Amino acid sequence: MEPSLLERAEAAKGFMPPDEGLALHRAGLDATRAVPGAPLVEIGSWCGKSGIYLGAAAREGGTVLVAVDHHRGSEENQPGWEWHDPSLVDPGVGLIDTLPTFRRTIWEAGLEPHVVAVVASSPVAASLVAGPAALVFVDGGHGAEPAHADYDAWSPKVAVGGLLAIHDVFPDPADGGRPPYEVYLRALADGFVDQAATGSLRVLRRDR
Ligand code: MG
Repeated sequence: MEPSLLERAEAAKGFMPPDEGLALHRAGLDATRAVPGAPLVEIGSWCGKSGIYLGAAAREGGTVLVAVDHHRGSEENQPGWEWHDPSLVDPGVGLIDTLPTFRRTIWEAGLEPHVVAVVASSPVAASLVAGPAALVFVDGGHGAEPAHADYDAWSPKVAVGGLLAIHDVFPDPADGGRPPYEVYLRALADGFVDQAATGSLRVLRRDR
């Protein structure tokens, strides 16, 4: 990955460690080669950190990243929860709004032509984005209901030969919440094949 972009990705606000970000970028590139012309999709954009890793891959691969987020924060980002950031609350509205930060992040990285923001809930976006996608990256709400709903809605959109990436997969409950791990197990049971594991990032391939 281009050093200046890597620097911006590492500096961006978010929850993606550098080694996992690079693995995500690599998966994005692999996917654009495996399924030329198809978009990359991410569910859960937050402030655009993973959007740089995947947007850079989309640019290199001659496609776009479709970045889906309602930009109001997941349950775990709300006030009183561990992952809340008060600086992201729009004082005029009284709700989290990560869209301005996201847009700034993507613009500063020079990736605006390659990143299409879809400001919508995941189920609504799923009804509008037909697929197939070269890669779907699932990193939306981490509660049981949203995590499984994201898998239900988006995993069928992964192209044959394409990739499904899941963030925050923790086999040991001591390390983090269950739902992303449960989703990962569902993907294996559904025939997705392990391709790579870096930290809590899992990348799986659809073979059929
Ligand atoms: Mg995450």
